[in-house]
Amino acid sequence: MTAPQPARTAANRATTPPPAPVRATVYGYPRQGPDRELKKAIEGYWKGSVTAQALHETAAGLRRANWRQLTEAGLHEVPTGDFSYYDHVLDTTVMVGAVPERHREAVAADPLAGYFAMARGTQEAPPLEMTKWFDTNYHYLVPELGPDTVFKADSGKQTAELKEALALGLKSARPVLVGPVTYLLLAKPAPGVAPDFEPLTLLERLLPVYAEVLADLRAAGAQWVQLDEPALVQDRTDAELEAAAQAYQALGGLADRPRLLVASYFDRLGEALPVLAKAPVEGLALDFTGRAAGNLDALAAVGGLPGKRLVAGVIDGRNVWIDDYERSIATLATLLGLAARVDVAASCSLLHVPLDARAERRMDPQVARWLAFARQKVTEAVTLARGLSEGTGAIGAELAANRADLASRAASPLTHDKAVRARSAAVTEADTRRPLPFARRTAAQRSRLGLPPLPTTTIGSFPQTAELRAARAGLRAGRLDEAGYEERVAAEIREVVAFQEEAGLDVLVHGEPERSDMVQYFAEQLTGYLATRHGWVQSYGTRYVRPPILAGDVARERPMSVRWTKYAQSLTSRPVKGMLTGPVTMLAWSFVRDDQPVSETARQVALALRDEVCELEAAGTAVIQVDEPALRETLPLRAADRAGYLAWATAAFRLTTSGVRPDTRIHTHMCYAEFGDVIDAIAELDADAISLEAARSHMQVADELASHGYPREAGPGVYDIHSPRVPGVEEMAALLRKGLTAIPADRLWVNPDCGLKTRGWPETRAALENLVEAARTVRAEL
Ligand code: GLN
Ligand code: ZN
Repeated sequence: MTAPQPARTAANRATTPPPAPVRATVYGYPRQGPDRELKKAIEGYWKGSVTAQALHETAAGLRRANWRQLTEAGLHEVPTGDFSYYDHVLDTTVMVGAVPERHREAVAADPLAGYFAMARGTQEAPPLEMTKWFDTNYHYLVPELGPDTVFKADSGKQTAELKEALALGLKSARPVLVGPVTYLLLAKPAPGVAPDFEPLTLLERLLPVYAEVLADLRAAGAQWVQLDEPALVQDRTDAELEAAAQAYQALGGLADRPRLLVASYFDRLGEALPVLAKAPVEGLALDFTGRAAGNLDALAAVGGLPGKRLVAGVIDGRNVWIDDYERSIATLATLLGLAARVDVAASCSLLHVPLDARAERRMDPQVARWLAFARQKVTEAVTLARGLSEGTGAIGAELAANRADLASRAASPLTHDKAVRARSAAVTEADTRRPLPFARRTAAQRSRLGLPPLPTTTIGSFPQTAELRAARAGLRAGRLDEAGYEERVAAEIREVVAFQEEAGLDVLVHGEPERSDMVQYFAEQLTGYLATRHGWVQSYGTRYVRPPILAGDVARERPMSVRWTKYAQSLTSRPVKGMLTGPVTMLAWSFVRDDQPVSETARQVALALRDEVCELEAAGTAVIQVDEPALRETLPLRAADRAGYLAWATAAFRLTTSGVRPDTRIHTHMCYAEFGDVIDAIAELDADAISLEAARSHMQVADELASHGYPREAGPGVYDIHSPRVPGVEEMAALLRKGLTAIPADRLWVNPDCGLKTRGWPETRAALENLVEAARTVRAEL
């Protein structure tokens, strides 16, 4: 994310010795180990092939190795307690004794098994709900609280991990906890509790538990404890800010406690900054990257943090690029005058980046030098701290190397493709608008396809079968050649098309068997994207993803999806829908370059996709779906930033889709049920139709669209694809009738909530047959 950075002031100001030595720290480190040892051990434990004891030993070994690595790299304080078997918010739930009723017995009987039961569910007890951690791609388990919740301190995990670190001689190990305000703001009402219950009302009850944990940590030897309050970088009400003030007044006022460092990240603190600056705590950690850069002026405006410690997150902790040392030194030099002690850190936990860029041995070494993963970021923090403490002369070699790497990136043909830049610069507003308005396009589209009212379709993917996965693994391992793999893909497409014809769906798909992932598939085919071999990042629990790295100018060298779409169309006389991933999602699920505005990167991706859209049309495709499931999730945390984001995001979508004839239908798709914040942006996409997740919320989204005057076609899902359950005909018909109260029959589509790739064939067949039958039933009532 690129946003205004503090002006480059004279870096040599840093040569005046700071009041206290500047040191380096981080808030958290990747948990999985260099070879994802943790994932393997946990999954082994689930299967019964790894004992609890062996799992604990593996985990302890990984923690030890991490701490050693961090200390050897020169970190002054290492974090403890950031490690987790599944999720740090779930760990906090255990720490405060807020285990949901339905899991209590299991947790009491066997804490480890019970812990995983809360995360994954059992036959008897569903898991905690999972949702995104702020605007990252990490998912946490949502605490469930109610007026009857009784908190009880369990500091066992935190004190044990602290003691492990102290036993290694790491005297300044610093426990990291989710802070009480953020914990409550992330919670939701427990099942059976009134939906308007506000967990924050439990603050007074929760604080004594934090007090007890802090006392335990102090007794165990902690000098500092970090309390993470990222929820305070979001827009907060006065009452919430008041709660934060009370919380830190109370915790700060405790007699028996370690020193407290309250950490914020992912954005600027805004109104929460004066609240925390005044609180009786010893230190604050602030993010100074991207959108959070405004923290610098805000900090000066409140008069700095006299007498306090400031941990300055100047290194981008959630992207993969090397730091600009001179810029960071300038920022840090300014900050030195604003606090009693300044330490250097990455802006957030390094959980959100891969472990080690040096492991990418197959990458062009020149390009690899532009990358800093967790390990490299630690070294950067240490180097900056040294430069500040000892004067920039002490890091002369590092500064020179950093300058050279940044220069090589800036001058590289990878980041500067003349043709791509010229084309992007020539884009006009008109290129982002379809020549005819929807009302006139729709007539042309209707006469081209002649669909019935309540037309039926799916979202794109069909079950990824064991044969298909085996074929893909075989291809990777060299057991299967390209031709053999393609024959497998073709066979899947034949099966998917034949089934859809039999079932009687109106607009068919090819089923996406050639795609293991909707972003990676296109990233691999576009120039400007890099793939990593070991760049794993935790998505949730033991699930890790390897996001592609969008490093350079983006161009499409050849058609990407046309061949399989054409093949599918050759098998049937019904229309086959083309299927692409939209520009916003192509960015959201990748690491994106930070050397130009994201809006420019989005425009390049949009132009490449636009060519694909036009080529699909030229191949005879009458319906083209451009998926944007990530539009909602990369919405900026603060409302003030949203209009700017939505403007470029919707423009990129329209640039992708506006090159087609009026009689070609553009569809889009989004998942997740909460659309409230983007409902107007959906209209701005100007897609002819949108499919949305709605089955679990009983078509509520149809009402929302209608009440916002959404003028085009919509397919609120009638089949919840997240479970193997097969919805009945009458159930889906009822949802359709409900949808019809908001959207007229000639604009209402009938489709599932999302793609079917995680489903099995038997339930998919049954559910889609029922879906077609439900559409027929309701059509007959029109
Ligand atoms: N077309 C994609 C699919 O069906 C959409 C996936 C998504 O929305 N996440 O799998
Ligand atoms: Zn979806």
